[in-house]
Amino acid sequence: MIKKSMDEFIRNDREQELIQMVDTLAARFAKRAAKYDVEGSFPFENFADLKSAGYLKLTVPKEFGGDEISLYEMLLLQERLATGDGSTALAVGWHVGLMLNLRYTRSWPDGLYAEFCRNVVEKGTMLNNFASEPTTGSPTRGGRPATIAERVDGGWVITGRKTFSTLSPVLDQFVVTASIANEDSVGEFLVAKSEGVQVEETWDTLGMRGTGSHDLILQRAFVEDGKLLRRVVPGEKSLQDQLGNGWLLHIPACYLGIAFSARNFAVQFAKRHRPNSLQGSISELPHIQSQIGQMEAELRTARTLMYSIAERWDQDIENRPHFKTELGLVKYVATNSALSVVDKAMRIVGGLSLYRTLPLERMYRDVRAGLHNPPMDDAVIRDLAKTALSEA
Ligand SMILES: Cc1cc2nc3c(=O)[nH]c(=O)nc-3n(C[C@H](O)[C@H](O)[C@H](O)COP(=O)(O)OP(=O)(O)OC[C@H]3O[C@@H](n4cnc5c(N)ncnc54)[C@H](O)[C@@H]3O)c2cc1C
Repeated sequence: MIKKSMDEFIRNDREQELIQMVDTLAARFAKRAAKYDVEGSFPFENFADLKSAGYLKLTVPKEFGGDEISLYEMLLLQERLATGDGSTALAVGWHVGLMLNLRYTRSWPDGLYAEFCRNVVEKGTMLNNFASEPTTGSPTRGGRPATIAERVDGGWVITGRKTFSTLSPVLDQFVVTASIANEDSVGEFLVAKSEGVQVEETWDTLGMRGTGSHDLILQRAFVEDGKLLRRVVPGEKSLQDQLGNGWLLHIPACYLGIAFSARNFAVQFAKRHRPNSLQGSISELPHIQSQIGQMEAELRTARTLMYSIAERWDQDIENRPHFKTELGLVKYVATNSALSVVDKAMRIVGGLSLYRTLPLERMYRDVRAGLHNPPMDDAVIRDLAKTALSEA
């Protein structure tokens, strides 16, 4: 049987079953997406649904009760989820992605990691890293955090402000990066919501409005001794980190899911829309077919690249540390293609695409955020150039 292009990358019955579960969630989230977007509020009910469906434990190791799905499988599901609501997919993507990353790097102290995994499975606990700051910007640039951790009896106190803290309304614990006072090193701390931690609702943005990416303010927030997860060098990835580097592909998967949804909307619209100046629908017009064909070329290229790299990453365990260039390329191609596809979808639909009663203008705003998720375009292009120069 010939598969529809959306289903092209489903490889077996297990993946088909997982897709069915996610399609149900995506259809439900699609109905709620406009409301959360207009309000800029956090979709708590979507997260309750994700928890009941067992989505939050998908990338947790089997030894702790999770499903241990691969990177490839995670992308299949994240992409589908984003066809319903981009914000929810991006937000939960940090959690499932980080759990996949930790499964491969085992960079946390063993006992703490085991306890956290069990809490994900039993209580639906979620995780995210809060590293961005007003003065250091993107952590990928290598700046030292302005957030400071000071040694006190029995632990640490942390003071600072984190920006873009996705999932902050729903998390009880999160990883915060902070410069350690009187040392050169930077620590990653597992911080619990407490008196010294406040979420300031700053997330009033153009796109991805339902991700709850507010500011997190830490005012001498106490963290007990065992919750210093590790010391890191800003902007540098250790060999251990690189073993789990594929997790960030949850970002391209999300933006491609949004783009696919825009493509579906525009193609269905083109088949249905019959202005009285024409005998048939606008789908028969050469310039509309040309735009549909171009959307297909961009989507198929980006998706083929993403799934082929993910498959190689899953299989070629030894070489994972050397995937940085390919992973960056996937993100660069996917996010820029998503921008272009949603733009074309809107041109096909015409002036109606501007109405808030249709989903396209939201998708147009949401895909724009992809440019500001890591790795950034200039870093990918520089890395590709460096690689080419080292080879020739
Ligand atoms: C929807 C969304 C969700 C997010 N969720 C999270 C999250 O959960 N946790 C988190 O920590 N962060 C998160 N982020 C933040 C993200 O990772 C970036 O830190 C943030 O978008 C700022 O990136 P920037 O490149 O604009 O910032 P900056 O680094 O401040 O850059 C601003 C401008 O200056 C240039 N620039 C700055 N420094 C350099 C340099 N050294 N070299 C070259 N160019 C430079 C950049 O190219 C850019 O044009 C999220 C962002 C978005 C959009």
